[in-house]
Amino acid sequence: MKILLTGGLGYIGSHTAVELINSGYDVVIVDDLSNSKIEVLDAINEITGVKPKFYQIDVCDKQELVKVFEENSNIFAVIHFAGFKAVGESVKQPLKYYRNNMDSTFTLLEVMEKFNVNNFIFSSSATVYAVSEVMPIDESFPLGASNPYGRTKLFNENVLIDYQKANPDFNVILLRYFNPIGAHESGLLGEDPNGIPNNLMPYICKVAVGELDHLNIFGNDYKTKDGTGVRDYIHVVDLAVGHVKALDKLVNNKNYGLGIFNLGTGIGYSVLDIVNTFNKVNSNLVKYEFAERRPGDIDKMYASPKKAEEELGFKATRNLEDMCKSSYEYQKNHKEKK
Ligand code: NAD
Ligand code: UDP
Repeated sequence: MKILLTGGLGYIGSHTAVELINSGYDVVIVDDLSNSKIEVLDAINEITGVKPKFYQIDVCDKQELVKVFEENSNIFAVIHFAGFKAVGESVKQPLKYYRNNMDSTFTLLEVMEKFNVNNFIFSSSATVYAVSEVMPIDESFPLGASNPYGRTKLFNENVLIDYQKANPDFNVILLRYFNPIGAHESGLLGEDPNGIPNNLMPYICKVAVGELDHLNIFGNDYKTKDGTGVRDYIHVVDLAVGHVKALDKLVNNKNYGLGIFNLGTGIGYSVLDIVNTFNKVNSNLVKYEFAERRPGDIDKMYASPKKAEEELGFKATRNLEDMCKSSYEYQKNHKEKK
């Protein structure tokens, strides 16, 4: 069964491609390489023995996208990962974010409609939830994004919900990811952002390989067990498995309609938990200093993973040690190759 992955050479898309291929799906990838490298295709091939069909195109380019659908008849579903994801950049360049993250969805929906492709899985984010004192967050919690990136996710959700309402034959699953970290156990796939990373695990990894001196922990006076921010970190391979489960659901339910699911573990870890576990499993590599709170950050956020478990049969199985070990292995391996 043929599945189109937009942004399939990115961090989450590439891990999902591997899990889909291993589950017997036929994967086609489109990616414009704006935030990924063509070598990822070889890594997918090396891991699975299969090199997916690949198109280097911008998903917003309707003519090019039509060609992909013409050349690949019988696409069963689209998993839409393509998009920009840096919160800080989205504040500085909101139009860039609204244009790419919205236009890609509009274009896809129009082309899917033309080719009668009726199944869609969307990369949403926990950032769509309004700030809440109550934890864990379940799918019925109030929504309210606080920056342009988050709003593109929220607007996309609304577009897809409206579109599904108007087209009952169309099925859509919105997956709200919590904090994906970790890397493939082969050491061949992972996350290595250009420049100085914004996110915690990529930053820690760069300190561990000596590219950065120390980690700045943003705030140690939050209302949490040790004062540092708490998040729900999920291994990217578990997250990828979550997509396979969502897809299986669509395969087995022709008139599925709309589904909205958190993908998280339900466990909240603090920044200090992450650093200490990283240092424990990778022999003490990361120094840190406490710094000012980062504007916009909240004290804690973790998911209720119940709905995905009950309705999709998805449960994350990899623990924090796995996440810390695999992140570092990839970073080392990748650094040697650069
Ligand atoms: P990523 O940047 O590694 O992957 C996105 C891929 O999409 C990249 O390969 C990029 O080259 C490609 N791309 C971007 N715009 C495109 C376009 N117009 N046409 C074709 N390709 C395009 O990001 P990721 O971490 O793998 O995230 C995947 C999706 O999940 C994104 O939509 C992101 O917003 C969402 N998400 C990510 C996280 C996270 O922490 N990584 C959390 C929640 C949601
Ligand atoms: N964080 C930190 N130092 C960094 C990057 C992040 O202390 O260099 C903290 C951040 O304040 C938050 C947690 O790590 O409490 C996770 O941040 P990240 O940016 O990875 O994810 P998000 O903010 O999207 O949850």
